[in-house]
Amino acid sequence: MSSPVLDATAPGPEYGQDAIAQILSSKHCQTGSDEAQRRVTLPAAPGKQLTTKDSWMSPMISVVAPAYRCAGCLKELYRRLCLTLEQLNPDFEIILVNDASPENDWRIISELAASDPRVKGVNLSRNFGQHFAIAAGIDYARGDWVVVMDADLQDQPEELLRLYAKAQEGYDVVFATRGNRRDPFLKKLYSRLFTRLINALSGVHVKEGLSNFSIFTLQVADHFRALRERTRSFGLLMLWLGFRTAYVEVVHSTRYAGTTSYTFLKALRFALDSLVSQSDRPLRISIKLGFLTSVLSALYACWLGIRYYIYSVNVAGWTSVIVSLFFLAGVILADLGIIGLYLGKVFEETKRRPLYVVRELCNLSRVSEAAS
Ligand code: UDP
Ligand code: MG
Repeated sequence: MSSPVLDATAPGPEYGQDAIAQILSSKHCQTGSDEAQRRVTLPAAPGKQLTTKDSWMSPMISVVAPAYRCAGCLKELYRRLCLTLEQLNPDFEIILVNDASPENDWRIISELAASDPRVKGVNLSRNFGQHFAIAAGIDYARGDWVVVMDADLQDQPEELLRLYAKAQEGYDVVFATRGNRRDPFLKKLYSRLFTRLINALSGVHVKEGLSNFSIFTLQVADHFRALRERTRSFGLLMLWLGFRTAYVEVVHSTRYAGTTSYTFLKALRFALDSLVSQSDRPLRISIKLGFLTSVLSALYACWLGIRYYIYSVNVAGWTSVIVSLFFLAGVILADLGIIGLYLGKVFEETKRRPLYVVRELCNLSRVSEAAS
């Protein structure tokens, strides 16, 4: 069955075939191993569709993209992904996970899947969130390499060639970093603050501008599938796995269509959750803060004694009492809140519910829920 969106030979708006050829012959593609060069250094005949000389030996690639309010982007995403992936191996799969989008994302995914068996669809029963939708997509991915990217075309499909080429230098995971992040100023600001906070309070080191756009091996995907915790951040879990990781700076774009679903509050909640899931350092800091307050109170008591006995100054009035009362009550309440956060996470985990619930699938058979 033919589809109006199947013209994968037309160039994307920002990457024509010349641009793709440029990426393929760029430094990353040329500094790789012989094997890498055989796989990705392709002849770039101007105006001609690039062909893979030895696609029979190229690995299969699975692209996972979660979709929420991305109805206007999906056909273009598919078109540009086909154009790009065919450079490597025409035997690829694109797994689009509909995270219960209120737009008609699922209808478009079903149409794409009906016209091309390489497109696979996972329809979740409700909105579980981006990182759960990514987990669902990875559970179904069967490629030798798995790519994770946003479906709104902020991550440019053509850049995955550079990630792939970098991976051929001997890395298990390659992350895209966004030097020129095309997001609103406030969003960039709190994202930077969050990265610094995570770096200061947790064991992992998160590179500034790190995105979920990445490529990794089947082995990494297998280990990722084993991580079933409910408070999850794709990037932090991948970093925790600790395989050989590289970074490639990519061009970041504005959303192709629609609007972001991340409000400031949603992003803040996600940041807090990620912090709590990644580290127990806030608990340790609250203990230290408790001891510090006790030591300072003892010193203050000594000072009041000295003033009374040596300088004959009476204990100051009720102001100091009230101030210290409020201060201590604040510290205690904040500590209780921190403990409550961790307790809430323990409660979530003990229920052992699946990470996501699948309503229907396209071109896929159900994977065991043991994986979920
Ligand atoms: N997304 C999702 N579920 C959600 C919110 C977002 O699967 O509840 C997906 C969305 O389709 C996109 C990616 O996560 O592919 C990033 O979302 P968005 O563009 O809204 O966030 P931003 O780029 O502003 O961080
Ligand atoms: Mg986006």
